[in-house]
Amino acid sequence: MLIGVPKEIKNHEYRIGLTPAGARELVSHGHQVMVQKDGGKAIGLTDDQYKRAGAEIVDTAEEIFRRADMIIKVKEPQPAECAMLRSGQVLYTYLHLAPDPDQTRALLASGVTAIAYETVTDSRGGLPLLAPMSEVAGRMSIQAGAHALEKAQGGSGILLGGVPGVKPAEVLVIGGGVVGLNAARMAMGLGAHVTILDRSIDRLKYIDELYGDRLTTIYSTRDAIEERLPYTDLVIGAVLIPGAAAPKLVSREQLKSMRAGSVLVDVAIDQGGCFETSKATTHQNPTYEVDGIIHYCVANMPGGVARTSTFALTNATLPFAVQLANKGARRALLDDPHLLNGLNVHAGQVTYRAVAEDLGYPY
Ligand code: NAD
Repeated sequence: MLIGVPKEIKNHEYRIGLTPAGARELVSHGHQVMVQKDGGKAIGLTDDQYKRAGAEIVDTAEEIFRRADMIIKVKEPQPAECAMLRSGQVLYTYLHLAPDPDQTRALLASGVTAIAYETVTDSRGGLPLLAPMSEVAGRMSIQAGAHALEKAQGGSGILLGGVPGVKPAEVLVIGGGVVGLNAARMAMGLGAHVTILDRSIDRLKYIDELYGDRLTTIYSTRDAIEERLPYTDLVIGAVLIPGAAAPKLVSREQLKSMRAGSVLVDVAIDQGGCFETSKATTHQNPTYEVDGIIHYCVANMPGGVARTSTFALTNATLPFAVQLANKGARRALLDDPHLLNGLNVHAGQVTYRAVAEDLGYPY
C-alpha cells in the first residue's frame, strides 16, 4: 500500500502522523511511505531520518493526497485538505466530527473512508488511540500547575514538594481516569500531597490498590470538593462523562473560599470545562485570573509537547496502521471490531451512530 503523511497545517500544530520508526515498520511490511518535506522538522524529525527509514520525501501535500492509498495524520483535515481527499482513499486521523458539520459534509462529498482515532476501542472498553494524549495532558497538567503557582505567574508562591521543614502543596485531582491518574502520579513524584476524587468506586479501588496510603481517595460529591477547596493549592479538572459536556464542579462563588494565587488546571476544557469560570486558552497565552485564582485551560495540551506526543501517538496508532496496510482497509475493518468502531465515514455515508445522530444523518 502507498501511505502518505502530510505536514500538519492546523495553526500551531507541530505533531506529525508517523515517526521515522513507524515509517520503517510499514516499509518492512512491504509498503511504500511518502512523507511531506519538513513534515517533522519542528520537532527534530528530519527528512534524512525518514529517508533512512525507507520513506520517500515529497515536496507538496497535493502530491501526497493525489497518490496515497492511505493518509495518516494527526488533526482533522482542514478545508484545503478535505478538498484533496478522494473516493476510495483511507484517512486515518483524529476527526471529532460530532461538533463539526462542515468537515463531515466535506468528508462525505469526497467519498473517503475515514477512520477516527478517537472512536477506536479496545477489549477493556477503553479508547486506546485517545489514551496517549490523556497521559500526556495528565502529566503536563502538574508541570503547568507548578509553574502557575510561581509568584511571577500570579500564583501563591508555593513549591509543590515543599522542602525539609516546610509542608508540601495540596493537590486535588477531580476525576481519576487516564488524565487524573497521570496527574496524581506526577504530583506525588514531585512530593505534593494528593487527593483524588472519582464517582467510580471501582476506579477508586484500583487507585487505592496501586498507591495505598501514598495518596487519599475520596468519593466525588459537591460536599467533598467544597470541603477541600479552602486548603487546596492546585486543582486538576480531569472528569469525563463520555459523549457529554463536562459537569461544572467548582462554581465562581466557591473560588472565594480558596487562597489567593491558588491554581485551577482544567484539562476537561475540551469538553467545555469542569469549572464554571473556565474558558479555553492557548499555549501562547495559557493562564488568566478570576477572583485571585489562576486558571490554566489550554484545550490542546499535547500540542505543547509535540515531540513526546508524536512518539506516543505513533506507538498507539501503528499496530492498526499496519493492519490497514497489510490487509487493505475493508478486510482489516471486518476482521477487527475495535478498528471498525473507528470508522466514521465511508463512501458518502456516516457510519458512526453518535455522529449521525448529532448531525442528523441516516444511520
Ligand atoms: P477517563 O474516562 O479516563 O476518566 C474520566 C474520569 O472522570 C472517570 O474515571 C470518571 O469516573 C470520572 N468522573 C466522571 N464524573 C465525575 C465527577 N463528577 N467527579 C469525579 N470524577 C468523575 O477520561 P480521560 O482520558 O482521563 O480524560 C479526562 C478529560 O480530559 C476529558 O474531558 C478529555 O477530553 C480531556 N483531555 C483534554 C486534553 C487537553 O489537551 N486539554 C487532552 C487529553 C484529554
